[in-house]
Amino acid sequence: MSRRITHWIDGKSWGGVAQRSGEVFDPALGTVAGHVDFAGEAEVDEAVAAASRAFETWRSSSLATRSSVLFAFRALLHARRDEVAAVLTAEHGKVLSDAAGEVQRGLEVVDFACGVPHLLKGGFSENASTNVDVYSIRQPLGVVGVITPFNFPAMVPLWFVPLAIACGNTVVLKPSEKDPSAPVLLAELFSEAGLPDGVFNVVHGDKVAVDRVLSHPDVKAVSFVGSTPVARYVYETGTRNGKRVQALGGAKNHMVVLPDADLDLATDAAVSAGFGSAGERCMAISVVVAVDPVGNQLVERMAKRIADIRVGDGRRPGCDMGPLVTRAHRDRVASYLDDGVTAGASLVVDGRSHPVDGEDDGFWLGPTLFDHVEPSQALYTDEIFGPVLSVVRAPSYEAAVELVNANPYGNGVAIFTNDGGAARRFQHEIEVGMVGVNVPIPVPVSYYSFGGWKQSLFGDSHAYGPDAIHFYTRTKAVTSRWLDPSHGGLNLGFPQNT
Ligand code: NAD
Repeated sequence: MSRRITHWIDGKSWGGVAQRSGEVFDPALGTVAGHVDFAGEAEVDEAVAAASRAFETWRSSSLATRSSVLFAFRALLHARRDEVAAVLTAEHGKVLSDAAGEVQRGLEVVDFACGVPHLLKGGFSENASTNVDVYSIRQPLGVVGVITPFNFPAMVPLWFVPLAIACGNTVVLKPSEKDPSAPVLLAELFSEAGLPDGVFNVVHGDKVAVDRVLSHPDVKAVSFVGSTPVARYVYETGTRNGKRVQALGGAKNHMVVLPDADLDLATDAAVSAGFGSAGERCMAISVVVAVDPVGNQLVERMAKRIADIRVGDGRRPGCDMGPLVTRAHRDRVASYLDDGVTAGASLVVDGRSHPVDGEDDGFWLGPTLFDHVEPSQALYTDEIFGPVLSVVRAPSYEAAVELVNANPYGNGVAIFTNDGGAARRFQHEIEVGMVGVNVPIPVPVSYYSFGGWKQSLFGDSHAYGPDAIHFYTRTKAVTSRWLDPSHGGLNLGFPQNT
């Protein structure tokens, strides 16, 4: 039965009568599972108005109140993580174990946000001048717009929303229209956790909704994640309209394998990081740089491992890799296979002939491996965002570093080696924001910040971790002199947090 997915504004479902809507698929079945309302300007204005009203009181809520709401939300999300994972699998297609991992990584940011009283501490200088103290305080910005992509419908909102509200802001989230249900479920859980109405709102839609968020005078900051062209547009438009913007973009992540690497470890890592979530991860490995003479052995081992990957409906036990998110995306990714062959790359494993444990109409494409890919070919230059892994041969360590540094993206990179000196030199020289040493997907833990360099990020702040506290607050420096002595009333009770 087809469902209707509506907005969440001021603590309740909103809509069901939108003039425009979009189809939401079950990608493993290839069927339409529901329709999602698309917001026009009026709905975005309604959500921003609710968030603005809520900000008047939420900005003054005590740190104890904010962290207790976050602790309650954390407990609810823990308790209902399987339900959230099932929603992710149904709309995105990733297998259930991977969906559970997504919820877990989001929960880690919630853990970090629970410590907000510590994070919002300012500085204090006693007696900067005689009887004069100087201190700094952090204050929220107001309404924050959060715009997120299809590939992590729960985790990416959780990178931003808990920390934005922990800092005293209110939020209007515009998630991907392709898999919109999980963000609404998160909003319901926040409500159940005691978050006041209007602090967190969700509006669905496309460019129309995004453009209104970017132009609305009451939206003070925007956190965006998506493809590079849209990230650049969001950054340029938002900053032109006077907003603080962080816009995380696309990626082309390399894994450099030096000849001294443990080849079994490197093979497992490349195959897992290349094909997990069907390659629809911004930190997926899409290029393996095999430094001579390791190429032939590595490609041979990878081809063997790929044959064991079980592609199928993510709800079926034992499946490793699900379908792609939409038919159009599957067709786009598949078009690179013929184009790659025409361009002269060697097709080692053809994903179109991989067996599938699922319904015929699902948006399937099995894992594909190309060897001898050249940096001028579309296989290398484009962000494919699917289960297509390219091997580029490099004559030396220096050539491998040169290749990575010349790439316009700079999200993640990994080196596989047993030489500590080479690894240390690599992390110093490489122009990429997140580096893995014998770790293929180096997504930082929640108390470090997540973000790429070059065209993988527009703006100065990375996501979550310490950068988020800076991004979601502005500082005020207070210079104060008090006459001495001052008088206070008596209170013999034990001090309590209220
Ligand atoms: P996308 O850029 O198509 O969409 C992202 C968001 O922008 C969605 O909410 C979408 O509705 C909106 N949008 C799309 N086109 C728009 C337009 N013309 N104007 C205004 N808004 C628009 O990205 P996607 O396909 O949903 O997600 C995949 C992309 O996201 C990949 O490029 C991937 O690398 C990137 N990504 C990056 C990171 C990171 O941390 N750097 C993380 C996850 C995904």
